[in-house]
Amino acid sequence: MANLWNDDEAKCFAEQFAAAGEAVAARVYTSRLLGRDPTLVLHGGGNTSVKTTCQDMLGRTIEVLCVKGSGWDLVDIEPPGLPAVRLEALRELQQLDQLSDADMVNVVRGALLDSEAPNPSVEALLHAFLPHRFVDHTHANAILALTDQPDPEVHVRRALGDSVLVLPWIMPGFPLAKAVAEAYAASPDCTGIVLAKHGLFTFGDTAKQSYDRTIELVDQAELYLRRAVGGLPAMLLGDPAPLPMAERQAALARVLPALRGACAVKSERGVGGFDRVVVDARTEDDLAAFGLHAQARKLCLSNPITPDHVIRTKAHYLYLAPEAVADPSRLRRLVTEYEVAYRRYYEASAESISPNHMHSPKPVVAVLAGVGIVALHRTAQGARIAADIAAHTVRVKATSHALGDYVALTDDELAEMEYWPLEVQKLGKKQPPELAGQVALVTGAAGAIGTGIVEVLLERGACVFATDIDGDRLQKLQSQFASFGLRVGTHQADLTDAAAVDALFAACAAQFGGVDCVVPNAGIAHVSSIEDMDAEIFARVLEVNTTATMRVLQAAARMFRRQQTGGSIVLQASKNVFAPGARFGAYSASKAAALQLARIAAMELAEQSVRVNVINADAVFGDEQTPSQLWAEVGPDRMRARGLDEQQLRDFYRERSLLKQPVTARHVGEAVAWFASMRTPTTGAVLPVDGGLPEAFPR
Ligand code: ZN
Repeated sequence: MANLWNDDEAKCFAEQFAAAGEAVAARVYTSRLLGRDPTLVLHGGGNTSVKTTCQDMLGRTIEVLCVKGSGWDLVDIEPPGLPAVRLEALRELQQLDQLSDADMVNVVRGALLDSEAPNPSVEALLHAFLPHRFVDHTHANAILALTDQPDPEVHVRRALGDSVLVLPWIMPGFPLAKAVAEAYAASPDCTGIVLAKHGLFTFGDTAKQSYDRTIELVDQAELYLRRAVGGLPAMLLGDPAPLPMAERQAALARVLPALRGACAVKSERGVGGFDRVVVDARTEDDLAAFGLHAQARKLCLSNPITPDHVIRTKAHYLYLAPEAVADPSRLRRLVTEYEVAYRRYYEASAESISPNHMHSPKPVVAVLAGVGIVALHRTAQGARIAADIAAHTVRVKATSHALGDYVALTDDELAEMEYWPLEVQKLGKKQPPELAGQVALVTGAAGAIGTGIVEVLLERGACVFATDIDGDRLQKLQSQFASFGLRVGTHQADLTDAAAVDALFAACAAQFGGVDCVVPNAGIAHVSSIEDMDAEIFARVLEVNTTATMRVLQAAARMFRRQQTGGSIVLQASKNVFAPGARFGAYSASKAAALQLARIAAMELAEQSVRVNVINADAVFGDEQTPSQLWAEVGPDRMRARGLDEQQLRDFYRERSLLKQPVTARHVGEAVAWFASMRTPTTGAVLPVDGGLPEAFPR
């Protein structure tokens, strides 16, 4: 365990956060040092505090506790993430024998100096009751591996000696704060307190002292584990050998649509009747190996390494042996069995705590023997958090198993945490956006209309897998939407190549788990009279606009069948289908054929609850950043024919429509998002996005 303290960096923090005071600046620095190491804390886990003074409104000096606020992560915490509470108001509570959660929260919030500040950590009282200026709390992997054992104290004593206290599992909040304060008072010389099956507390007069103690203790624990286990634990060594790396991706592409479909939750308010999930898969060698070990199933069905994780990953992981990875119907059966077991656990342990409020019974993490681990969540960020936690969990459980026997909290203890209102609160109350959990695949995504579609779908919360034949434009698209982070995937493909279409859908499945909304939008244009038409070019336009579209519809249909959760297809045809233009035969004919294909698809795929609809857009010129390639092709001819310059041509098209409004790529995106929302039982429809052209009214 590396000690990351650096005097120069500490000085930089002292300067950068001077306005918050020396103590808080030092607190921010070592909190971030803890946050930088994922084997100490993960995704908002752990908490830190400092006791200092400040002036109240009347200019009096008062003692305050600045303690991590909810919603902040140690890795990038700033002074506002350490809200100040009046220390005396908290300390006074120590004389009580009991305190309800509601009263605790009330007193702590009432003691905040800033009424707008985030809720202080649920461990605020624990921090307040300890006398030290600085207190650090982590869920260090090595400490958890030592204490998730039948007798948590045995290995701690051997690894860390007698300088630390070891407390059994105690419910966080007031009971834990009291227990820690009393234990410390009886042994004031200790350097840290190990909370069995939970984590570690250290403290000190300076930020450095408290941080150093954490690192020292965890380092000793790691050293002990290395000696006892002898390097990588047997479960992670790869005997029997997992699939070769390249085959793990292929296996994911095969299995994830069925798994994702099975883990979607039927919901009246969900898109097309489902709340869907997206996946985050990890296929490192040790994770791929884990599932093949004889003890893997047992450890998947054991409780978390520290109880905080339960709200992110659920207690048990879905275990898929090689036979289940290869057999979708078996996999679906196992998901159903998982749900039954979760209900049983809820009814046995949790219902007394939170009656009629069962969380979704679906698994959040699956272990795929020989392939790796997969997290499934409504949001890409939630899936990433769960996958990170699961990867650490698997490694800690394997280590703990190698050390002795992995024993975590009991179901009753865990249920109390899983349904503890103060714990559930950490997930926030924000409703996910309308298209959260949806995966959209957009072809021709880097063009003008494609970019508008991608943008609107991302804004509505979907994950978007964008594909285009032009790699440079695709890269530009990726950087244009970088702020959407994990929700954007790109993949270059020539859709006239059948193998490339299959590879495209496989890549989308490997990244997000499948697809729900397919937007065949790629197309090319060619200007020529029939008299002068080059048959080869004509065939090429048909190949791109019709045959490739058929291939995309085909791949989509196959993917939808594996998921069994319905879906939508929104095909980009053209106003030209109903109101064709002279010298535009190749484009108009190929788009008319594509529209007819979409209507056939609507008939064929309805039994799978897949809706297929068509958008007829017109005169979308794009903007400076992404001009329309179609208009680059067509514009000069149309300008010549009408004797107009480019601006006049745009004006001409706007003025000829009923609404006299320019049509933008975002308008097309809005129409796609409407169909993707599946809010009406509509299929086989054509929606014009053209400003209103009577000659192009659908018929
Ligand atoms: Zn904790």
